[in-house]
Amino acid sequence: MKLSIFLGLLLLSLQTLSQTERYQVYALRVAATTHPFPISYWADNGPQNDSVGVVFMIWLIRGNNGKNILLDAGFLHGSDYEKEFEFKSYQRPDSTLLKLGLKAGDITDIIISHPHWDHINGISLFPNAHIWIQKEDYNYFVSAAWLKRGAMGGFDKRDVRSLVDLNLAGRVTLVDGDNKEIIPGIKVFTGSKHTFDSQFVLVGTGANRIVLASDNIWIYYNLEHLRPAAIGGTWDTTAYVNSMRRMKTLVSNPKYIIPGHDAKVFSLFPQIAEGVVKIE
Ligand SMILES: [Zn+2]
Repeated sequence: MKLSIFLGLLLLSLQTLSQTERYQVYALRVAATTHPFPISYWADNGPQNDSVGVVFMIWLIRGNNGKNILLDAGFLHGSDYEKEFEFKSYQRPDSTLLKLGLKAGDITDIIISHPHWDHINGISLFPNAHIWIQKEDYNYFVSAAWLKRGAMGGFDKRDVRSLVDLNLAGRVTLVDGDNKEIIPGIKVFTGSKHTFDSQFVLVGTGANRIVLASDNIWIYYNLEHLRPAAIGGTWDTTAYVNSMRRMKTLVSNPKYIIPGHDAKVFSLFPQIAEGVVKIE
């Protein structure tokens, strides 16, 4: 083969490769609670005498395409809801990224799984991020939740104002429904009804497909026993369980399904830095 043809073919195959988005996925711990919780607090009909370590986390999806995507934005101190928990550690969401060499300004996108205080409150920390949230979840969060008989549990008015401001600034995309590829190689799915229309993420690393469930699965017990979230954790217990069944069909091994609040995530995967693991 002539060298020029060989080089041409090489270039072509390199171009094809670069068109395939590959991502590295990390869980970053924002806070850990002082005491374990009874499993029954998180899983419907779960054991009261068995406990689970509870953490608050965000997830970083780092692409070979220049994308640094967060699933959820964590929280800053100051919400009334925080009083429900006693923290033994807390780190601001943007500071956790420094351990991976990233600054707040490097975050290109934030996918909001659902607008509860501990998942959305940090959005204003990231000046260049574009926000992706389900349209129905957004609409409920900024309007009907606050009407008579609205369900505003876990919602903070300050977060409503910041999200509306970001929308006014043209920095929000409202995702319209289930099974949508919002960014090349990043798909979102609805149906779990953790909030009005919460979503979870499916992402490929090349070697594996990973489901980042966020609170569409609270803790591993929910997934392992197919138990819905305990009271306050879903609008529809059947939908919540069906959604976990569906997640299992999206990955080769259930170990690649990552729940929203289980401390075990940080011992199951390789640690990159204190409070940071790589999902692989
Ligand atoms: Zn949560």
